[in-house]
Amino acid sequence: MSIAISTDRSVREAYEADSSGLHLVPEAVARPESISDVVELVKKAAADRIPITCAGAQTSTTGASITDKGMLLSLRSLNQIGELDTKTKTVTVGPGALVGEVKRTVAAAGLLFAPDPTSEEESTIGGAVACNASGARTFKYGATRRHVRALKVVMANGELMEFRRTDLEKNTVGYAFAHDPIDWFIGSEGTLGIVVEAELSLLPLPERVVGLATMFATENDALSFVVASREAGSVVPRCLEYFDDRALEIARHHASAATIPEEARAMVYVEEEVQVDLDATLANWLELIESIAPDFEPLVFDGEARLRDARKIRHSIPSTMNERGGRYRAAGGRKVGTDWAVPYRNLSAAIRSARSLAEDRGLEAPVIYGHAGNGHPHQNFIARDAGELTTIEEVVEQTLKQVISLGGTVAAEHGIGKIKRRWLPLQMNPLQISMMTAVKRELDPSGILAPGNIL
Ligand SMILES: Cc1cc2nc3c(=O)[nH]c(=O)nc-3n(C[C@H](O)[C@H](O)[C@H](O)COP(=O)(O)OP(=O)(O)OC[C@H]3O[C@@H](n4cnc5c(N)ncnc54)[C@H](O)[C@@H]3O)c2cc1C
Repeated sequence: MSIAISTDRSVREAYEADSSGLHLVPEAVARPESISDVVELVKKAAADRIPITCAGAQTSTTGASITDKGMLLSLRSLNQIGELDTKTKTVTVGPGALVGEVKRTVAAAGLLFAPDPTSEEESTIGGAVACNASGARTFKYGATRRHVRALKVVMANGELMEFRRTDLEKNTVGYAFAHDPIDWFIGSEGTLGIVVEAELSLLPLPERVVGLATMFATENDALSFVVASREAGSVVPRCLEYFDDRALEIARHHASAATIPEEARAMVYVEEEVQVDLDATLANWLELIESIAPDFEPLVFDGEARLRDARKIRHSIPSTMNERGGRYRAAGGRKVGTDWAVPYRNLSAAIRSARSLAEDRGLEAPVIYGHAGNGHPHQNFIARDAGELTTIEEVVEQTLKQVISLGGTVAAEHGIGKIKRRWLPLQMNPLQISMMTAVKRELDPSGILAPGNIL
């Protein structure tokens, strides 16, 4: 075997954490540098029945990219950004390439890779494919799945296979789930195969985009504005991001490029691609804003540098909360982030109910922010010790039951991983779970890929 597998403790400990707050030290670490290295490693592991968990940049919030069973396979070195075809608008990349780098490379050729997880500067394409990552602009462009044309996958037995999305507009052959096998791997959290190359679909880069941050005196006004923005017809948002009172406190500290008024209790950040002229676009937004929040002047983010400032403000919320959660690790605490979503018209009811469930148990109010346009906020709690962690998890479980009764999902963006596995049966009935188990058994009969993720 040409590729070294390290069992050195310090190397293994370098891969023991992702952004979930959990720590699991792998039994070994391998860092392949080519597709053939991965094939060789997996064939050997399959023969010896050694479990393999893939890791990209380990920004997973669910414990999906850490393990204490078998080998941690870091794909970071497979980071090539290959052929960019401006005619077909596709680019071929390795799984270890950072999403932000891919976006910058294709932008230089006037193209857009649309998925925009807030963590795009520190997370990989392999992770984005495996988690079907999404972001603020998913509101307009959809999640990663829609932007993947082909994948090279090393299967659990070490066989290298290629899956290419069909261009069919009609197809009645067999069961729908078998039409595009590429979809089995997108969102499978490393449990069905190892992505070693991805061909991504690109869009034309919009010529001009404007962002507006609109302040509100109440949460209710802000959430009404989200619904109005979706339904108005006069505006075409590509994102609708919500910040509650506590998220605004964090944003104020990071908003050197913008002044968020002290009286504001909630904020909604929107972006729109300017189609005709900026004045007309702004006028439509101002009319809508004035109908709900006449007291506040919106902040305008025009041009690439200003849009980057807005992104930094948005990113400051999860990164601050991760950092706060990390302070309580020694006492058994951590950040607990929810990832539920409901149909957008039910968002206000879902947040009201989530708030009162936390209040009833005497918890500090969570920070609530995120993708309100898709009915998908994040609630971030900080558990200061193990006891508080248990209470928070009970509250989250009660919240998820409410969310499901409102037509929602327990995980809209970050996947299930290890942390949310216990909530799978809230969402899926036994038949759905046994169908997924059957697929897993067929593709990975010895169960060596990412044990403990999802199922
Ligand atoms: C501050 C912060 C903000 C975030 N914001 C968002 C957001 O806006 N939207 C969002 O969707 N997520 C977000 N996340 C979660 C996370 O960043 C995403 O899920 C990201 O796509 C994970 O990429 P990664 O390279 O870190 O993957 P990892 O964490 O290393 O792995 C994630 C999963 O992918 C699997 N995997 C990795 N590479 C491969 C491969 N080559 N083949 C097969 N399986 C593989 C792993 O086994 C694991 O199951 C955020 C996280 C943080 C810390």
